[in-house]
Amino acid sequence: METVAEIERTDEEWRQQLSREQYKVLRQAGTERPWSGKYVDVHDDGTYRCAACGAELFDSSTKFESGSGWPSFYEPATAEAVELVQDRSLGVTRTEVRCRRCGSHLGHVFNDGPAPTGQRYCMNSLSLDLDTSGNAASGDAGDTG
Ligand code: FE
Repeated sequence: METVAEIERTDEEWRQQLSREQYKVLRQAGTERPWSGKYVDVHDDGTYRCAACGAELFDSSTKFESGSGWPSFYEPATAEAVELVQDRSLGVTRTEVRCRRCGSHLGHVFNDGPAPTGQRYCMNSLSLDLDTSGNAASGDAGDTG
């Protein structure tokens, strides 16, 4: 069942930390309009982190073109990064994806994704923060070692 999030903030604290649009998605399980998000067509290498707490959620290597209008991944960075919760809103049963670290809403996962997992993690761009710092760091590693 649901686990207790590692990061606990009050509703007021989340409101202050997040933009209005981020708050609606991350803390009120909203969904951004398809094709409106900034990561739909992004192909840069990096790590997609939780926009609320910074936890590593997805690696760019698992991102694929789903045609849905939302950034889509075939698996999370680690199984422990996310929490899956049954969602019976809107009259259908879906599987909600939350950040395990802070409990924030990320999107939903469906079983119509590509190989190797067959899963489609359909995320909101507003829930994600692409971190490309690892790319630069690895490029400089030879000079600093
Ligand atoms: Fe988080």
